[in-house]
Amino acid sequence: MLHLLKHPLLTHKLTLLRRKDTETKEFRETLEEIAGLMAYEITRDLPLRDVTIETPLGICTTQELAMDVVLVPILRAGLGMVDGISNLIPTARIGHIGMYRDHITLQPMTYYAKFPDNLSNATVMVLDPMLATGGSSTDAIQVLKNSGAKIIKLVCIVGAPQGVERIMHDHPDVQIFLAGLDERLNDKGYIVPGLGDAGDRLFGTK
Ligand code: URA
Repeated sequence: MLHLLKHPLLTHKLTLLRRKDTETKEFRETLEEIAGLMAYEITRDLPLRDVTIETPLGICTTQELAMDVVLVPILRAGLGMVDGISNLIPTARIGHIGMYRDHITLQPMTYYAKFPDNLSNATVMVLDPMLATGGSSTDAIQVLKNSGAKIIKLVCIVGAPQGVERIMHDHPDVQIFLAGLDERLNDKGYIVPGLGDAGDRLFGTK
């Protein structure tokens, strides 16, 4: 299922990210802020459990998060979303996955994967700012499922229709969250109008 998040602050900050003259520092800060704003929606259905606690004035029966959260940024651009979400969920554990596209087979290959234990008891959030063809996201999700993950959310900033369709086809159980859904991919696989290469803009490479 696709959740296209709408909020004036998200729209405003996404405009900043898209501007070609936004420099690395502001790009990095804004990407983190957008991820933080999205955290409110992507955690909306997290389960709660009852707890009884003591306040300074007495006993209070209330609730707390019942399930672990694991964040899995896809290297490298996904790293730019981690702090925005983990600031709000400081108990979240963090895994990493790195993928590249084999020049001959054109298939995404996993070159690095390290996850916390007990993925099966956690809500796992895969982070990647750009959902373009969906190739690396679908593979990352499959690697996580093979490692035991059962509840997976894909959190991206900008998506293309092709990437959304790919994930919905390959992983109908995975919720997709976007702050913007753009027109199309160009012949190099970049999202148009998009924001360019998220990794390069985030890390100041190129
Ligand atoms: N990755 C990016 O960084 N940008 C795109 O537009 C597509 C994939």
